Amino acid sequence: MTVFAQVALPYAKDALAPHVSAETIDFHYGKHHATYVTNLNNLAKGTEFENLTLEEVVKKAPAGPIFNNAAQIWNHDFYFLGFKPASAGGGGKPSGALADAIDKQFGSFEEFQKQFDAKAAGTFGSGWAWLCKKADGSLSLESTSNAATPLTQGMTPLLTCDVWEHAYYIDYRNSRPNYLKGYWAIVNWDFVAANFAT
Ligand code: MN
Repeated sequence: MTVFAQVALPYAKDALAPHVSAETIDFHYGKHHATYVTNLNNLAKGTEFENLTLEEVVKKAPAGPIFNNAAQIWNHDFYFLGFKPASAGGGGKPSGALADAIDKQFGSFEEFQKQFDAKAAGTFGSGWAWLCKKADGSLSLESTSNAATPLTQGMTPLLTCDVWEHAYYIDYRNSRPNYLKGYWAIVNWDFVAANFAT
């Protein structure tokens, strides 16, 4: 039987501060994300999903509690891996083939950021903003609601921003725009480039 688990954070819980505080990590990773793991382990027991990998569950489960909890584990794993402390080289801009693809698709890095911010700000209620690679190799900005994920839509996710209020309420209260400013300061562009290369 698969024991579903959340990814280990590749940084200390206070390393993303002040952009994402240790208190937010305690609640977001330590409680919200962890609860999806507890829920999925309980829900999958005795079902056709109990021996699948997390990604397989996300791709095969019909709409409902098993999908919602599995997709939220996957989305949060991906989100937390997308960060690197600013002191360790997080933030800034991408380079190489990824930077070229962003320039080609959006005109410039700044224009890409502007459009990503608009996608994140325009996601109504709880959801996620994404940079994805489509099957034809082009880049695409996506917005998904609740637990929905581009993983089930034939796209390769490259980067995501969680815009559920629980992602920013402790540090930024109701200000999603201020959260987004902090977000860019800790993006792990090595992670995004590695996803782009797959
Ligand atoms: Mn979240």
